[in-house]
Amino acid sequence: MSDTAQSEAAQTMRAIVVEQLGAPDVMQIREGVPVPQPGAGQVRLKVEAVGINFADVLSVAGEYLTRTRVPYTPGMEFAGTVDALGDGVTGVQVGQLVACLGGSGSLATYAVANAAALIPVPASLTAAQAAAFPVSYFTAYHGLKTLGYGQPGQWVWVQAAAGALGTASIQLAKAMGMNVVATASTEEKLELARKLGADVTLLQDDPERVQKIRAAAASDSNPKGGVDLVLEVVGGPRFQESLDVVMNRGRVIVIGNASREQANLRPVELMKRNVTVTGLWLTSLMGDAEATREAAMALTPLIASGQVTPQVGPTYALDESVRAFQDILDRKTVGKVVIEPQR
Ligand code: NDP
Repeated sequence: MSDTAQSEAAQTMRAIVVEQLGAPDVMQIREGVPVPQPGAGQVRLKVEAVGINFADVLSVAGEYLTRTRVPYTPGMEFAGTVDALGDGVTGVQVGQLVACLGGSGSLATYAVANAAALIPVPASLTAAQAAAFPVSYFTAYHGLKTLGYGQPGQWVWVQAAAGALGTASIQLAKAMGMNVVATASTEEKLELARKLGADVTLLQDDPERVQKIRAAAASDSNPKGGVDLVLEVVGGPRFQESLDVVMNRGRVIVIGNASREQANLRPVELMKRNVTVTGLWLTSLMGDAEATREAAMALTPLIASGQVTPQVGPTYALDESVRAFQDILDRKTVGKVVIEPQR
């Protein structure tokens, strides 16, 4: 790191450290942790806002798709001001607000990131909004669009509709001209879904939800009803409902399993209505440079123009991280939970 590129740097910082996996209360706050130094091609960021995803909760629990190695500091997406540049970094200024997606380590007052992974933040976004953006909007975009859907007039069922991914999915689907059926666990959550443009909203425990979702999408060209696309995030015993509401030749995209329960899939059932079931994991899609570039090009003008706005939910200080994670698990939150380490 060059001297000229380094600002007045602190020597130690505060960080969340996980030494053993489990419920959110395994997270501990540590003082006096050495501030990380950026290596070649890296920058150090003063972390302003960390977006907390359901995946972070699973990661701390040791239930994520990849193995969590301890000790570690959680936090996979964040926004921060550039504090120091490693050797060879160009095109980024000290003091600039940027967002970052990938890896872990941002639940701290400082973090390092690869300069290549930085995402410019439009002036219209706050740090909290910037931290609420990458995971949810890239995932929603890929779910709705990349696989050939996202056409005007198509119907999509958005589950957990008031959550971080749910609110992003509603906004993007509406921006694409799609029709949205949204489900969530409370009337307050459905109110947010309607505010964001959902056409039909239903409590997720409505006893007639399957019939109502199918009927909502019925039309002259689709007299039996059923939605074109399901963004499946609940899983478990509820997975069957996605197969039941999808139209002939429709698609169910498995994006999450918030129930943390096993689902039963009988492949022969897919034949009945020529249903496609496919998976989507943002982490592996980020390795597809062309798909990522397409998503970024589509998302940037929508965000910059304010046509879609990242929904920041409750915000917490770093030493309230356990509560923030527990509130997600307890389904108390709407929008993206954000932790602000500088508070
Ligand atoms: P959210 O902000 O949506 O919070 C999770 C929501 O899931 C809750 O608010 C709750 O909404 C709903 N939920 C349904 N059943 C349960 C349950 N049994 N226990 C807890 N919550 C439940 O989180 P995210 O936006 O971070 O993630 C939403 C889903 O999308 C998760 O399953 C996540 O793993 C997945 N995801 C997957 C990605 C990928 O790359 N595949 C990327 C991003 C997210 P309600 O109360 O309304 O039911």
